[in-house]
Amino acid sequence: MEIKYQSTRSEGTEVTASQAILKGLADDGGLFVPKTIPALDVPLAEIAKMSYQETAYEVMKLFFTDFTEEELKNCIRRAYDSKFDTQEIAPLVEKDGTYYLELFHGATIAFKDMALSILPHLLTTSARKNHISNEIVILTATSGDTGKAALAGFADVEGTSIIVFYPKNGVSAIQERQMVTQKGANTKVVGITGNFDDAQSGVKAMFNNKDLAKAMDAKGYQFSSANSINIGRLVPQVVYYVYAYTRLLADGAIQEGEAVNFVVPTGNFGNILAAFYAKNMGIPVAKLICASNENKVLFDFFETGIYDKNREFILTSSPSMDILISSNLERLIYKIAGEDAGATADMMAALASTGKYTITEDMKAQMKDFIGGWADEEQTAAEIKRMYETTRYVMDTHTAVASAVYHDYKQKSGDTTKTVIASTASPYKFGTSVMGAISDTYKGMDDFALIDELSKVSGTGIPQAVEEIRSAPVLHDTVCETADMQKTVEEILGL
Ligand SMILES: *Cc1c(COP(=O)(O)O)cnc(C)c1O
Repeated sequence: MEIKYQSTRSEGTEVTASQAILKGLADDGGLFVPKTIPALDVPLAEIAKMSYQETAYEVMKLFFTDFTEEELKNCIRRAYDSKFDTQEIAPLVEKDGTYYLELFHGATIAFKDMALSILPHLLTTSARKNHISNEIVILTATSGDTGKAALAGFADVEGTSIIVFYPKNGVSAIQERQMVTQKGANTKVVGITGNFDDAQSGVKAMFNNKDLAKAMDAKGYQFSSANSINIGRLVPQVVYYVYAYTRLLADGAIQEGEAVNFVVPTGNFGNILAAFYAKNMGIPVAKLICASNENKVLFDFFETGIYDKNREFILTSSPSMDILISSNLERLIYKIAGEDAGATADMMAALASTGKYTITEDMKAQMKDFIGGWADEEQTAAEIKRMYETTRYVMDTHTAVASAVYHDYKQKSGDTTKTVIASTASPYKFGTSVMGAISDTYKGMDDFALIDELSKVSGTGIPQAVEEIRSAPVLHDTVCETADMQKTVEEILGL
């Protein structure tokens, strides 16, 4: 069955999968959604025998229906290869009776590698299919991890270039170093004086600027997005939920048909939305637990049905979740509004003008699978310490938010459903916070010394991605005011 995509904000804009991947964002500012979420057409017991790559094909072929089998398998093969430090790609690790789905074994040791290692291949294949000759300029706002993962994915990919904006004072020292040392003649990294939401708004404004698009086209360029709003990132993320479930089946940890909970440390709502799509494809899921840090706009939304970003923006030790506008939530809103693009557009317009919208009781009732939770800085640190002391398993701060939220939920609800926690970053990426949580004795040590200590206490090897940047030279040092983002892009492209 062919799957077409349409905007969350208006009817009648049907495009193919490859066109949706190329455009990133719909012309009306909406997000592309599949007209229907396809059901898996192979029994889960069969998928349980498959590798990660084979599972990826079974999921993606149902969404990317205008790709040939060869094209899709090529993309998958190039993405999920030895860039990952384990053949399993996304290992499921049991600790303390809970399953941690480790999504950090790729090139930049964070979960964004899961999608960003395949997106460049989906994009260049899509360009070929649609006879595009312009150079594709990837424009990205990052709260830390997306930037590096996108840079690593696109560096030196022919026919593409990439410009990454990040909040100069809003990412970890290691995250910043990872980005500013990026090689590749087609890469540019720019710090801005504002926060992540400023960066994201600036990027969105450029995407919606028709004059800019014209000027770019005249010079042989066109924008595309590597942000988590691109359907070419969302769909690859569905894969590992199917994979996690079928691993549990294969290991006999669950019976066929038994539902599991997924707990996801959430920022932009892409990762947890992928779990929701997996459920809609036929994976038995009980609860989808959406874990936030102190920027708990989503927790409040699930409690009250009111999304309100008018609040203080808090910098936490889980910076990739320091987000007040969760872009991908728009796809859930569209779904629970009964696929009503008009209603979705109205709510997004309210969000843009007042920073706030309220969903109907009917819509709220349709979100009953979701549970919101949040953990403050102290609870997050305590969870890292507790897990380390009881199991020797060292988690990063984002995973710890999810783990803290889950254990609190479990205790209060008495829910004993088997549970998978999305483990979104390697602890090595957030060594300072992680080691600080384990013991006060590490206070004041420099980042790289802490990494050596982390390796000692956890008994794990230092990932290649971290070793690499110890000595790498800084290649990017541009900083601009939030208001000058477009000017900076024009300079880079010579417009
Ligand atoms: C991006 C990111 C998240 C949040 O994922 P969303 O899809 O934006 O909700 C959580 N943890 C880490 C480490 C991340 O990089």
